[in-house]
Amino acid sequence: MSLKPYRLPRDELMKLQKDRLGALIAHVYGGSQFYHKRLRDAGIRPEEIRTKDDLKKIPFTTKMDLRDNYPLGMISVDISRLVRMHASSGTTGNPTIVAYTQGDIDAWAEMNARCLEIAGVISNDVVQVAYGYGLFTGGLGLHYGAERLGTKVIPASTGNTKRQLKLMKDLGTTVLACTPSYGLFLIEAAREEGLEAKKDLHLRVGVFGAEPWSEITRRRLEEGLVESAYDIYGMSELNGPGVAMECRSKNGLHIWEDQYIVEIIDPNTGEVLESGEKGEMVVTTITKEGMPLLRYRTRDITILDDAACECGLTYARIKRILGRTDDMLKVRGICVFPSQIEEILTGAEGVSPHYQIVVDQEGVMDRLLVRVEISEDFKTDKLTELVALQRRLEEELKETLSINASIEIVEPKTLPRSEGKAQRIVDMRKV
Ligand SMILES: [Zn+2]
Repeated sequence: MSLKPYRLPRDELMKLQKDRLGALIAHVYGGSQFYHKRLRDAGIRPEEIRTKDDLKKIPFTTKMDLRDNYPLGMISVDISRLVRMHASSGTTGNPTIVAYTQGDIDAWAEMNARCLEIAGVISNDVVQVAYGYGLFTGGLGLHYGAERLGTKVIPASTGNTKRQLKLMKDLGTTVLACTPSYGLFLIEAAREEGLEAKKDLHLRVGVFGAEPWSEITRRRLEEGLVESAYDIYGMSELNGPGVAMECRSKNGLHIWEDQYIVEIIDPNTGEVLESGEKGEMVVTTITKEGMPLLRYRTRDITILDDAACECGLTYARIKRILGRTDDMLKVRGICVFPSQIEEILTGAEGVSPHYQIVVDQEGVMDRLLVRVEISEDFKTDKLTELVALQRRLEEELKETLSINASIEIVEPKTLPRSEGKAQRIVDMRKV
């Protein structure tokens, strides 16, 4: 299957999407025992599913389905056609396996190449991939994309920060791909090596993903590390990274609708919401061969925007991920997303972007505490100034979250740092 060219007029793109949906339904009905049974049990004949609107008839696929059908019960091709298996970490029970044909790997490479291209990466660039390589899809996905685009790639993987910095400097890295929290960490780590990252390294483009992040984090990354920071979205179940990416307009992430159909649903009722409404993203993979998914519940909360983009691409955009339905904390019955807290802390003067959210109980009442490091340039020995800072942050939190939260200001560099995805929530409540 040829994926290029991807710059199609919107009506042609929608026609292609519709044709591919028809082919997908026939493919899974004939090839996947799981979906054959699922459609039959729901009383759906494959020829009934022709448009995006028809998808509503099909039950959702969840992570639980992938776990229950471990290891390869969800595949839609003969096992001999598989060339790769990735697995997501499962803290309990079975991991989730995702299986690829060669066609899937090619499509995945192509989508990552597009992502890099719309962020302005060119073949002359040196791309350092500091996402994990291995069962996690982050490293290999960006790696394939960079190779497909013809750049030079440094497969640095995660960790070994001193070596990361040395490679960036000595090999002239111009594009860095890593998590946004590691990006922020690199700014500090460079300083300890006597480097001003923004000035002494020459990072033109940063490709940041695998965690939700905020506009303020973008500003910090652009002030301290890279010329231009872009958000990339993906998840292993949908191939890996490269599902959606910000263009140079930085106003939402273009999602490759020739590969994926996106619906936004109310996570509580499953009802499909209108374009522009906030809800959980549900994705149907229309070109995957090995392990396509129908109406997969991503658990990511976003908004779909199909208005034309000034960059000229005709693909709809998703808004920056607001949070995940499973990260969503329910505190005293109110939904709290860590990203809302991050937005406040990273925008505040006097504190650093490193924080930890602790939820515990006092009697039967939930208690929300946010620990945040004071920034190193906030020099004061006056208790009154610290108390004023604390009060200001508590007021902002209350205004945004609609519940009381306590702020605890701690010394610089005392909260745990992460080289992969940041673990920022400590929930000590007894279930
Ligand atoms: Zn655009």
